[in-house]
Amino acid sequence: SLSIGIVGLPNVGKSTLFNALTKNDALAANYPFATIEPNIGVVGVPDPRLDTLAEIFGSARTVPATVTFVDIAGIVRGASEGEGLGNQFLAHIRETDAICQVIRVFEDPDVTHVDGVVDAARDIETINTELILADLQTLDKALTRLAREARANAKDKEKQETLAAAEKARTVLDSGKTLFSGAAEAGVDVGLLRELNLLTTKPFLYVFNGNLEAFADEAFRAKLSGLVAPAEAIFLDAKLEAELSELDEDEAAELLESMGQTESGLAQLARVGFDTLGLQTFLTAGPKEARAWTIRKGATAPEAAGVIHSDFQRGFIKAEVVSFDDLVAAGSLQEARAAGKVRMEGKDYVMADGDVVEFRFNV
Ligand code: GDP
Repeated sequence: SLSIGIVGLPNVGKSTLFNALTKNDALAANYPFATIEPNIGVVGVPDPRLDTLAEIFGSARTVPATVTFVDIAGIVRGASEGEGLGNQFLAHIRETDAICQVIRVFEDPDVTHVDGVVDAARDIETINTELILADLQTLDKALTRLAREARANAKDKEKQETLAAAEKARTVLDSGKTLFSGAAEAGVDVGLLRELNLLTTKPFLYVFNGNLEAFADEAFRAKLSGLVAPAEAIFLDAKLEAELSELDEDEAAELLESMGQTESGLAQLARVGFDTLGLQTFLTAGPKEARAWTIRKGATAPEAAGVIHSDFQRGFIKAEVVSFDDLVAAGSLQEARAAGKVRMEGKDYVMADGDVVEFRFNV
């Protein structure tokens, strides 16, 4: 399954956040590997639609979609040159599908900052620079080979285009930009460079770790968002998240409310992370459970069926689909059918987020 790597300089609150992520998990029982691998956390994506479905179908329980986070320790200035855990650290990032940087904005004289003072812009730059330098090393190695292959196969259009894409990517990185932020503008077809598994083509998201009073200031938040746009920014207090993760659901909700919040930072992180990975959900419901299943955006009905069971995909006949909103408006599946809101979709149907589905298949 797809995962998000959590990176950040030392002492920014990574472990605090990660511990909250793993502990908070009401799903731990369903996902035992979450506790076996100390650096992997599986977090439920909050989805209020599940409770509504459970009411309509009388489901005994709800099962949310999940996002997997991997704690990637050890990035420091010079990591791309082998400082700290260096290349080991880069290898771990390579295996993830998105990069989440935790950035310290809290001031605390008892917690030293590796670079002396708290400076979000500088920290973002430090991490980006390491990732960019690592990609430049990868590209420089590859360029020699790609140039040779392009020369040897002058009529092979893809080889020529791949070389051109690699050269353009190099220019983007040389200008100090990640490929995530600069490739589109520079006309780099990153799809052609997939085999190089470059780090900065992965989608980025950012967690600013600070206190909620500071984040209440709209201008402050806008300034921080501006540092990372077009990537998404999440503002949270890792220490508070750690406290919340120790409480039961009602107590946690009460504490959040007393602080003027409707949703925990971790819940926001799970939602935004899920979206950043290019994922969406479809829903199933019955007396046993109301459940959100994970598919990539653009997945077809048979692919969605395959997420439930490979037999469902192999024997796929059709999908009975109703949008969540239509179902709720009708009040029940029977009434939605009577109102003509339930569609029979075939194997080419592209799933929409929030489709409530029942698959028909041959066994
Ligand atoms: P890591 O090195 O990035 O994993 O950082 P840690 O999670 O170990 O945090 C380093 C120190 O900062 C610990 O003493 C934490 O308790 C403290 N810390 C983490 N988040 C916050 C925060 O939001 N506010 C304050 N004041 N301290 C924090």
